[in-house]
Amino acid sequence: MTFKDLGIIEPILKALTAEGYSIPTPIQEQSIPILLKGKDLLGCAQTGTGKTAAFSIPIIQQMVMDRETNQQQRKIRTLVVTPTRELAIQIGESFTSYSRFTGIRNTVIFGGIKQGRQTDALRKGVDVVIATPGRLLDLMNQGFISLRDVKYAVLDEADQMLDMGFIHDIKKIIAKLPTNRQSLFFSATMPPAIVELSKKILGDFDRVTIKPQQATAEKVEQGVYFVSKKNKPNLLIHLLEKDPNDSALVFSRTKHGANKIVKQLAKADIKADAIHGNKSQNARQKALGDFKDGELKVLIATDIAARGIDVEELSLVINYDLPNVPETYVHRIGRTGRASASGVALSFCDAEERPYLKDIQKLINQQVPVIKDHPFVDDGSEEVPLEEKKHHNNRQKPRTGHSNSRGGRTNNHNRSRNNRPKRD
Ligand code: AMP
Repeated sequence: MTFKDLGIIEPILKALTAEGYSIPTPIQEQSIPILLKGKDLLGCAQTGTGKTAAFSIPIIQQMVMDRETNQQQRKIRTLVVTPTRELAIQIGESFTSYSRFTGIRNTVIFGGIKQGRQTDALRKGVDVVIATPGRLLDLMNQGFISLRDVKYAVLDEADQMLDMGFIHDIKKIIAKLPTNRQSLFFSATMPPAIVELSKKILGDFDRVTIKPQQATAEKVEQGVYFVSKKNKPNLLIHLLEKDPNDSALVFSRTKHGANKIVKQLAKADIKADAIHGNKSQNARQKALGDFKDGELKVLIATDIAARGIDVEELSLVINYDLPNVPETYVHRIGRTGRASASGVALSFCDAEERPYLKDIQKLINQQVPVIKDHPFVDDGSEEVPLEEKKHHNNRQKPRTGHSNSRGGRTNNHNRSRNNRPKRD
């Protein structure tokens, strides 16, 4: 199956070729025909599946067709609402890439910076607005944005929007959309609150479900180091010094922790930068830009700031802290091994984090191999059993994986598919 087989028009095909896309991803193959027919879509999928192209390509195509039959002046015909600035920027970049031979114009709207540039872009006229909810409502209230002409409405990462407390904003935005529109709703998980919200926006819809968790967990080589809290900085330095030319994304649970890691690495002459909510938008974009260009090899991120980070050929993710929400682990390791690349995800686990590891293994239905080949092994470094021990002689023996140059390559075992995990 090619994009041409899916009926994609020449100017978009040309852009996709330039992007290096030859084969549609599963979500693209399933969603594009539904969307080109004009149907609403409920997509159960997350970032990393090719979701952005799955919705932006058919929207651009329909907008080009509409324009040919109806030469109008520029009006906002597409609205994409997404939870974070990083995701908004990234979606904007995707629209720009895929529509570059079509004359479709987009702009990105988000808070945390002055609104002047955003309102200037709106005044000049755009076809597509990609926005975070707060600033969008703000600009709507000030009269800079009208949703009157929106024909295509996308609600992206709906579960994340709810987690971030955007539910009221979203409802207000939905209330302002014209009834005659095509609606797209994406969420990685489908708890009852999300199903209810989807009913508010969708009409007669088709559903597409992509299970990235299993795919991700299978593609990414994982390993866990048992290490005391005190030795985590030393272990990190040890790993980063082994392969100084590889790009590594390091996750910290807290903003303060992220800053501290940057300082500790600086003492060891390892240049790193942090992105989190306390940093200015400019500082975040600069760090992310340097990381994407390969100028900055080590980026420390909190989970919210990292959503939407999309770096080609990111080969290593390090969980400096294990997340207490197991789904977050899957989101994090999904930063590596994207599209068709494979990657390595290494986790540091101190004594207090053992229960988190247990929850993660249960969710991914996979035992994360323990890596013992390092100078900072903490006592009791044995694999945490997948399930609570049912029979006391059923305990799994520790296994050591193959070693790569990083001392971190491990053999994935115990892989099996299960149903996609539910958050609620
Ligand atoms: P997304 O899920 O939209 O964040 O996309 C994940 C990554 O896959 C991005 O880097 C896209 O540029 C890339 N991508 C999306 N579709 C394709 C495709 N058909 N072929 C190759 N790469 C793709």
